[in-house]
Amino acid sequence: MPADAAAAAPAPSHLSPDRTTPVTGWGRTAPTAARLIRPRTYEEAAAAVRACGARGGIARGLGRAYGDAAQNAGGAVLDMTGLDRVHAIDADGGTVLCDAGVSLHRLMEVLLPLGWFVPVTPGTRQVTVGGAIAADIHGTNHHVSGSFARHVLSLELLTADGEIRTVVPGTPLFDATAGGMGLTGVILTATVRLLPVETSWMSVDTERARDLDDLLTRLTATDRYYRYSVAWIDLLARGASTGRAVLTRGEHAPLEALERPKPSSTRARGGRFSRRDALSSPLEFRTSRLPAAPAFVPEGLLGRTTASLFNEFWYRRAPDARADELQRISTFFHLLDGVPHWNRIYGRSGFVQYQFVVGYGHEEALRRIVGRISARRCPSFLAVLKRFGEGDPGWLSFPLPGWTLALDIPASLPGLGAFLDGLDGEVAAAAGRVYLAKDARLRPELLAVMYPRLPEFRALRRELDPRGVFVSDLARRLGL
Ligand SMILES: Cc1cc2nc3c(=O)[nH]c(=O)nc-3n(C[C@H](O)[C@H](O)[C@H](O)COP(=O)(O)OP(=O)(O)OC[C@H]3O[C@@H](n4cnc5c(N)ncnc54)[C@H](O)[C@@H]3O)c2cc1C
Repeated sequence: MPADAAAAAPAPSHLSPDRTTPVTGWGRTAPTAARLIRPRTYEEAAAAVRACGARGGIARGLGRAYGDAAQNAGGAVLDMTGLDRVHAIDADGGTVLCDAGVSLHRLMEVLLPLGWFVPVTPGTRQVTVGGAIAADIHGTNHHVSGSFARHVLSLELLTADGEIRTVVPGTPLFDATAGGMGLTGVILTATVRLLPVETSWMSVDTERARDLDDLLTRLTATDRYYRYSVAWIDLLARGASTGRAVLTRGEHAPLEALERPKPSSTRARGGRFSRRDALSSPLEFRTSRLPAAPAFVPEGLLGRTTASLFNEFWYRRAPDARADELQRISTFFHLLDGVPHWNRIYGRSGFVQYQFVVGYGHEEALRRIVGRISARRCPSFLAVLKRFGEGDPGWLSFPLPGWTLALDIPASLPGLGAFLDGLDGEVAAAAGRVYLAKDARLRPELLAVMYPRLPEFRALRRELDPRGVFVSDLARRLGL
């Protein structure tokens, strides 16, 4: 790839269309209109960056950031999913070199049959490698493996001057780009270190925790024995049950787990399977698909009563304790991916995802926040709690060693903004932070408190991109 690709040729006409399109994040709040451009080569990407204009541009992957990170009101949005080639797989050494627009779903399709898995996966496979690096995403293995960018060996970044730079870990540009929300440039390719697996099955242990303290005790005592660990938490439960939860922990099943007869695993979650079939193709990657959520869902359908009933059902259906259940990768990691467009279920006004982390030693703050959410009766179906390990080197990477809680809340909930502002205050006072890939509403003055390396990030951006070519709604709102 030529280093000065941007300077090579004038922008092809299809890269500067007058196609102004409303763009939102996954939460479907606050749409803004932008020129949507879909480069198909690195040169086209460079030409599009050069032609961004006064309102600048931002890269976009599969639009799974919940808030406004991949939007740019009045400017350009570069849809990177047209650059989706897997260039090279080192099946012996366990690395892949691919375009940034490749999805983790595609990587799983290609890599699992070869006995390799992505090192970190979020709760959906429908994210791109570029989006994974830009948000420095974490999975349920953060306590063991850290965030996605820890596994990136190098990347190619198209910067505001039109140059393509090779960026490696341990450099300021790498640490600003990992978690930098696309604001240092457009990631074009990445080389990622992979995880070896013997099968495409997970061996899963499930147990229930009766309240928040029971949950924290169980997670603290046993997390180190599991590569993947997460708890679904019932935030509508009150009184003695506040914080009751279902813990799900697992490991990639070794081949011998498919051979071992075990009555409890003759029926895998996500459908029946024959042990003989599983053994004949142990690395097959299979997903299931349920009907899509309807395009129109009346507001208020998913209120407190529905959420309470769902939560009660979900808690009760979980066993008190079950060990060694075999689950498909798609069931264990990506249950929601089975329902296309599930984000429509919150109706036209969409929903907010609130995710924060507070450090170990700040359990009182966590208890207070969980208590406030339970008392406020937020109709939340999807709330998960997990433990993070070591913080990551990315200057704006989200994780720090501590407890992270994520929950969905309908945006139409009265008084939601003021309520979440109050929680932000608690989080900041506990030296915690909220996750930028999920954010749609943080007050800018809290950003520097939550992200102490923000001044370095801003300084690097000023030097690298003095004209402010790369900008997003998130960046304008928070002054990134
Ligand atoms: C159901 C669901 C579950 C999720 N679970 C988790 C989770 O467990 N852990 C977690 O960390 N996150 C989670 N997320 C959030 C998601 O992983 C991140 O928002 C991720 O960044 C989305 O990737 P994307 O390709 O869709 O990027 P987009 O949403 O399109 O963009 C996200 C950011 O990446 C930037 N970006 C995208 N492509 C490039 C590129 N090529 N070059 C430079 N910048 C780029 C954008 O500018 C933007 O700032 C979840 C999201 C959903 C919808």
